[in-house]
Amino acid sequence: MNSTFLSFLALGAMISVSLLGTVLLPADLRMKLLTEVGLFSTGFNLLGAVVLGSFIERERRHAARESRLSNEAKTDPLTGLLNRRSFQERYERQTQGRNRTGSALLVVDLDHFKSVNDANGHDVGDIVLQSVGRLLTETVRQSDVVARIGGEEFVVFLPNTELGNARLLAERIRQNVQRAGVEVEGRQIRITTSVGGHWHHGIVDLAVALKRADIALYRAKEGGRNRVEFSPAA
Ligand code: GH3
Ligand code: MG
Ligand code: MG
Repeated sequence: MNSTFLSFLALGAMISVSLLGTVLLPADLRMKLLTEVGLFSTGFNLLGAVVLGSFIERERRHAARESRLSNEAKTDPLTGLLNRRSFQERYERQTQGRNRTGSALLVVDLDHFKSVNDANGHDVGDIVLQSVGRLLTETVRQSDVVARIGGEEFVVFLPNTELGNARLLAERIRQNVQRAGVEVEGRQIRITTSVGGHWHHGIVDLAVALKRADIALYRAKEGGRNRVEFSPAA
């Protein structure tokens, strides 16, 4: 007998406590009521609590499963960050409102990540990606949105952010990744990242913002990597 079932029985018993109200009745009537109806009433209360309780419990499990599946569909399984699709949803939702300060999109691409895999193995590469995902989340502000949109490529959306602050944040990301390193099986793996940013006012399609941030990222890679570059606002 599991604990849920026991708690339904307890609920049925508690409902039956209402029978105690019969103490207010004259003694002979009370005895008559308790002996003739009390047992039946308690039995049906228990049964009712078990049937209704099971129904509620099934619905609760169903809701929990739905919520788990929906979360899984929204996140990248390796890092637990948002995936591209849910990032797009968040981006579109957050760019709907008034945007006087402007906002920025950063593309964060790890440098020479293929060599990290080649030198340490794919599994270690995965641990590095997880660690970078955590570091990004720790570095940005609560209102910023971090996602993994490709193999070793992350994006960060900075709503309501002036260009100067967007640059500072991008630079902080670059520095934190460089400083942190990742310790795997006693080995310290050092990595760097290049960041391409696009800052804009008003509503800009994610595809357009990504394209512009990618152009800036390309410049950062060409310029020697471990750098931040922003595309000029269009
Ligand atoms: P660059 O500095 O130009 O960005 O060089 P790069 O090596 O980082 O870029 P490239 O696009 O040549 O290689 C990306 C590498 O990322 C190759 C691929 O094996 C690795 N990668 C992609 N997804 C994953 C993943 O999920 N796990 C691991 N461990 N590696 C991944
Ligand atoms: Mg790369
Ligand atoms: Mg890449």
